[in-house]
Amino acid sequence: MEQLLQDGLTALGLPADGIPALIRYADLLVEKNKVMNLTAITEPADIARLHFLDSAALLTIADFKEKTVADVGTGAGFPGVPLRIIEPSMHLTLLDALNKRVEFLKEVCGDLGLADVECVHARAEEFAADRRESFDLVTSRAVAALPLLCELCLPLVNVGGSFISMKSVDAGAELDSARRAIEVLGGTVDRVVDYDIPGTEIRHRAIVIKKARETPKKYPRAFAKIKKNPL
Ligand code: SAM
Repeated sequence: MEQLLQDGLTALGLPADGIPALIRYADLLVEKNKVMNLTAITEPADIARLHFLDSAALLTIADFKEKTVADVGTGAGFPGVPLRIIEPSMHLTLLDALNKRVEFLKEVCGDLGLADVECVHARAEEFAADRRESFDLVTSRAVAALPLLCELCLPLVNVGGSFISMKSVDAGAELDSARRAIEVLGGTVDRVVDYDIPGTEIRHRAIVIKKARETPKKYPRAFAKIKKNPL
């Protein structure tokens, strides 16, 4: 794993200082995965590429230095934890609706000495009542279809900040179906960036949605409404 991470981070032009912490994180993930469902990816090489390097690639797409960042539906910590390990100046909030996963993340942060990382058990649409428009960047991978996801994430973003949604490269139709939601929620599509995960043939896509205006106060709605009637 160490060599894969060394080569992959070098290919991405990122520093390698976080490698020992990433290796320890992988150990904790594999160990905990024996007793609870955290990830289907358990081979060290796959964890390195499909979790760590995929997450790390976002650092080549946006500037996370000193930024307040929320990772919505972070699960076992992706992309948030690798981002924070590699770019320690960010102020990270990890958010998930499943408390067991949040408890695991607290253990990881304690073990790795990531003292300032906030681990929150909440649904994103409820968290917005407390922390509306208070993050420079919001990230999300593998949580929901984009029209719905935008309503969960865009209310949390500061005007001038961005929501970065990690998708597969065939997400063109999904983006088209979200254009109305993005507009209604005060966003605008800034960039669509396809990137290669080093050491693989896999290409993923980051959709960068800029927060141009405040989100109207009536959003986000309760989840049942979002699901029944996506924007
Ligand atoms: N982002 C991680 C990754 O890429 O490995 C986890 C993806 S997992 C498939 C989706 C996660 O989103 C789950 O842990 C689930 O609990 C969380 N989730 C789904 N809807 C959510 C919501 N409305 N608010 C917060 N978390 C949510």
